[in-house]
Amino acid sequence: MSVENTRIYPINTGWLEADVGTYLFWKGKAGEKIWHPTLCFYIDTGDYKIMIDTGLPDEERATRYHHKCEKRGCVESPTFLKNMGVDPGEIDVCIFTHLHWDHVHNMKAFSNARYICTRTEFTMAHNPLPLYYRSYESPILGIEAPFIGCHFEFVEGEQTIVPGVSVFPSPGHSVGHQCVVVETIAGDAVFVGDAIFNLRNMEPNLEEKWRYWVPARFVNSVDGWKSIEEIDKRSDYILATHDETVLEHEVFPFEGMPIRQRRQTVAGTSFYFSGI
Ligand SMILES: [Zn+2]
Repeated sequence: MSVENTRIYPINTGWLEADVGTYLFWKGKAGEKIWHPTLCFYIDTGDYKIMIDTGLPDEERATRYHHKCEKRGCVESPTFLKNMGVDPGEIDVCIFTHLHWDHVHNMKAFSNARYICTRTEFTMAHNPLPLYYRSYESPILGIEAPFIGCHFEFVEGEQTIVPGVSVFPSPGHSVGHQCVVVETIAGDAVFVGDAIFNLRNMEPNLEEKWRYWVPARFVNSVDGWKSIEEIDKRSDYILATHDETVLEHEVFPFEGMPIRQRRQTVAGTSFYFSGI
């Protein structure tokens, strides 16, 4: 493996309308809506072809069961790969940050891939708490989730998947959420799934004296905050599923890419989990 060869391609599978106060930011402005993209990522390390999440379904299904969706010319992930000359059957591994609907569609198109998630997430996805019937497309809605019938390999804790690509647990948004770390020539890229929605979530809310302005969509806010501190500690750059700024570049890393400072202190705010 050579880190120099690793290239990351963001794939925008469509736009979703999200509420600023109930989704994007804790104590965000209630009722205010924004449109944000839903990305998944194709990674080519030179030795392995990897998907991190697989993105949205079609506009009709997304809007009917979930949030208002507009494709705006975006294609689903297998088509995106075909358009760049990669057959979905060539993908070696699909790593899922979690199994919410907007991260798993079309996974069966990657027919030769190892599918990887945590056991905790798999268990919840197949028997969701009623609050999350929609998130996991429970059969009670009269639809079939994309992961039904797929064989997964389970990871628990920190684990290397292939050389230069590893996962670490980041529960909070969902019970078995994990982040993916990809080593690149510019440093460690961390794929945060929905641990944060927007890079702004990593910045402080000074008015409230919070080191991070965390999202409002959590199953567990203590785990969620801890996961954000872990991301902060581990990332040289962050690739977020729902952050529009990722779309400014077709490939990562790129020449002159800004590298973030890990665990930067901000006057008037504090970390909570000082030991990590
Ligand atoms: Zn999502």
